[in-house]
Amino acid sequence: MMIPCLHCGEKYDPENLPNDAAVQAGRILAEERYNDAGKVCANCLASRGRLAMMYDPDCY
Ligand SMILES: [Zn+2]
Repeated sequence: MMIPCLHCGEKYDPENLPNDAAVQAGRILAEERYNDAGKVCANCLASRGRLAMMYDPDCY
C-alpha cells in the first residue's frame, strides 16, 4: 500500500523501507520522539536518522 509522506508528500510503501542504518535510526526517532512512525518516507527517515547520528549521541 502506498501512502503519502507526512513531510515531503512523496508516495511510499511503509511496509517496504530499506534496511539502511540511517533509515532504521530515523524510524526509532519517529516512534520514540516525533510520534509519526509509519507516516514518513524512507528519504525523510534517513535524513532525520543521519542528523541524529551526527548531533544526538543520546539516541544510542
Ligand atoms: Zn518524505
